[in-house]
Amino acid sequence: MLCLDNYFTGRRTNVADLEDLPNFELMRHDVTFPLYVEVDAIYNLACPASPIHYQKDPVQTTKTSVHGAINMLGLAKRTGARIFQASTSEVYGDPTVHPQTEAYWGNVNPIGLRSCYDEGKRCAETLFFDYWREHGVEIKVARIFNTYGPGMHPNDGRVVSNFVVQALQGKDISIYGGGMQTRSFCYVDDLIEGFVRLMESPPEITGPVNLGNPIEFTMTELAETVLELVDSPSELTFHPLPQDDPKQRKPDISYARETLGWEPKVQLREGLRPTIAYFRALVGAGFV
Ligand code: UDP
Ligand code: UDP
Repeated sequence: MLCLDNYFTGRRTNVADLEDLPNFELMRHDVTFPLYVEVDAIYNLACPASPIHYQKDPVQTTKTSVHGAINMLGLAKRTGARIFQASTSEVYGDPTVHPQTEAYWGNVNPIGLRSCYDEGKRCAETLFFDYWREHGVEIKVARIFNTYGPGMHPNDGRVVSNFVVQALQGKDISIYGGGMQTRSFCYVDDLIEGFVRLMESPPEITGPVNLGNPIEFTMTELAETVLELVDSPSELTFHPLPQDDPKQRKPDISYARETLGWEPKVQLREGLRPTIAYFRALVGAGFV
């Protein structure tokens, strides 16, 4: 097993428990450069996914999704490997259809601050389907909705990590906008189970398939749940809403249920407990 990372947002400690396995190899590599190796399956997860990180170097973000997809598809084509693409609910933009099904084409601003990520991922989907049609590459495209769990970087900038760390430190909870925007949060173990099932599905299952938890929360509800579970005295504070921040998001997962027999098992409160324990340990050890 060959694991590639350029460490833009990833950390070696994330795979520390794998490094001693006899068949595990870790390599510093950026997917925007070609890679000639022998493989039979590829998971392409490359690209920072948190708005603060993908907006830091937006041109590099587009390159990672587009050049990265071309290189990994070229590798899949040459080796005959099956290839998984981590696409995203961001392909739906600020959706006008709710909940979002795979048939919805989306509502994306092509020139906004989020477009380096959104359009990069959309173009990657285009490349995957063209390599499938033109070259018969066996593709597996997943559209991943908001995901959380232990292992997140404390400075990831995502709403779950921000709220949990703020609650643990007794700092103000930073709600962007009025807090009425919604997201649906999937626990990491459920998501990974979806990846594996999609990868093991028959060749005619190409996706795109939504993978996410269909239970929707407002950001204010999330904040209140975190405060209750942490038993924190923190208070809610309101800040400006970032540009093009989607107002609502919730996957329709009928297709994943039918084709993969998959649905999330861990609901928000249950998944927040180990997530809070993980961040509590980091805060306690002075890593935050
Ligand atoms: N590529 C790679 N590893 C391989 C094969 C290809 O990184 O094993 C890259 C290479 O940079 C190439 C790209 O994937 O430009 C696309 O490959 P493809 O064979 O589809 O296109 P071509 O080489 O004909 O442009
Ligand atoms: N958000 C927030 N406070 C934060 C971080 C995020 O209220 O400290 C909001 C953000 O505006 C968005 C939602 O939470 O409406 C999810 O944001 P995140 O960056 O986690 O993911 P994405 O916007 O990509 O779904």
